[in-house]
Amino acid sequence: MMTGSGVTARRYDNILCLTETASGWTAKRQSLRIRDGRIAGCTSSPPTDLQPDELRIDGTQLMAMPGLVNAHTHSPDNLSRGCAGDLPLELWSLASSAPRTGRSPRDIHVSTMLGALEMASTGTTCVVDHVRISPDISAEGLDAVAQAWLDSGLRVVIAPVVSDLAPLDTMPFVDADFTGLDRAALTSAPPLPWHDQMEIVAAFHDRWHGAEGRITVGIGPSGPQRCSDILLRAAATFSADHNVPFHCHVLETSAQRQMGWERYGKGMLAHLDDLGCLTARTHLVHSIWLEPGDAELIAARGAAVIHNPVSNARLGSGTCPLPALLDAGVRVALGTDSACCNDSNNMLETMKWAALRHNKHGRFTGIDRALSAATSKGAEILGLGGVCGRIAPGMAADIAVFSLNAPAFVPLNNAPRQLVLAESGAALDHVLVAGRVVWSSGDHGADAPRALWAEAREIATAYGQTPAAAKPGLDLAISRMLTRVTENSANKEGTPCH
Ligand SMILES: [Zn+2]
Repeated sequence: MMTGSGVTARRYDNILCLTETASGWTAKRQSLRIRDGRIAGCTSSPPTDLQPDELRIDGTQLMAMPGLVNAHTHSPDNLSRGCAGDLPLELWSLASSAPRTGRSPRDIHVSTMLGALEMASTGTTCVVDHVRISPDISAEGLDAVAQAWLDSGLRVVIAPVVSDLAPLDTMPFVDADFTGLDRAALTSAPPLPWHDQMEIVAAFHDRWHGAEGRITVGIGPSGPQRCSDILLRAAATFSADHNVPFHCHVLETSAQRQMGWERYGKGMLAHLDDLGCLTARTHLVHSIWLEPGDAELIAARGAAVIHNPVSNARLGSGTCPLPALLDAGVRVALGTDSACCNDSNNMLETMKWAALRHNKHGRFTGIDRALSAATSKGAEILGLGGVCGRIAPGMAADIAVFSLNAPAFVPLNNAPRQLVLAESGAALDHVLVAGRVVWSSGDHGADAPRALWAEAREIATAYGQTPAAAKPGLDLAISRMLTRVTENSANKEGTPCH
């Protein structure tokens, strides 16, 4: 990572640039000049002035696009890839949480770097890390995450996970779910009080927000059903006071939808709106089990949905109503979700899924919308619309450069379409963030990744990587609850907006 050539002035002559226009994405030959981390010029013919410190690159066989924005992932899960089987979210959470509990700051650093490397090697330059430190949020754990992102060279929004309700209070259980089980024995230690968690996040924000112009510190409530109202309000206030994202899972499963009705007597989004949590800074991650009218409410508040199509399919969570959201004018970005529920961090793959998953009855999401969601829209939703997501003069030089001498692009008939539908990352040549090379195909076998991978293997071996059930019997209670909720959802008419 951060291969560190030191060259921040470069010029690509005659490179094919993927460019967003009012009528969609096009590809045209440009000369691209980069200086001091920014795009200094973008012209149809090469500049005539020679600048001696400038690295000059023949772009004839290259294609540039804005670096991809991965608007939802969880760095601690990079060490847990493959640990969870085919399970619905509530049971998957039991399996996935065990191996990430009690890690050292060095383990956390390695886990973060694994994801950063994978993302850079597939064209991602900007990431939202919805990071949970287990068992409790800590300054040391968050510092390890931030340092890793700084070392990686990527741009990041770190949204520390906060939640203050005990797991048994976050799901719609009934007494019968615990028949034959000792409910008291399934109770976990209570999380840290909400104000202690918010103090840790505030201090973390003071230490890291704005670091090298690449780190934003937001706030990441795990999900409304896992948070008290007072914590959700505090998180909304933090987001407003610092003008940073409020990043929150919402309505990922039908059980969460039911929990909302049982606890609040109304839909989950209506409740979030009552608390003042729906604003232009709000990221609603997943938004699958919406109520009628929710799409219009989200649009009216200017909030955004983060769509994670691969994760949703992996966990069998349901299908995000993307066409209805787009029709309502909701802003949508894309995310991979974690490496334990995807199980990759490849935004090229996610972009293809988003483009194809919702096509039916002659209606198509389209390549253009998938590309925008993964670049310019993603950056806007992260509060970075004036910084990255487009190739234009003045923007940060966050750019993915592909070779055109690759299966996906030969013959080259339609560059945007071939990028979204045919490219996996194999054609990636190098990646810039703020004008610096953060990944290059020539470095793929270099020592840095090998050392990182060796350390990751050691950590995995030390932990055993065989997740034990957090509490014996809890999986049975959850299974009973899910069976009941699923039957109720199937029997209910006219709901939800799905
Ligand atoms: Zn997630």
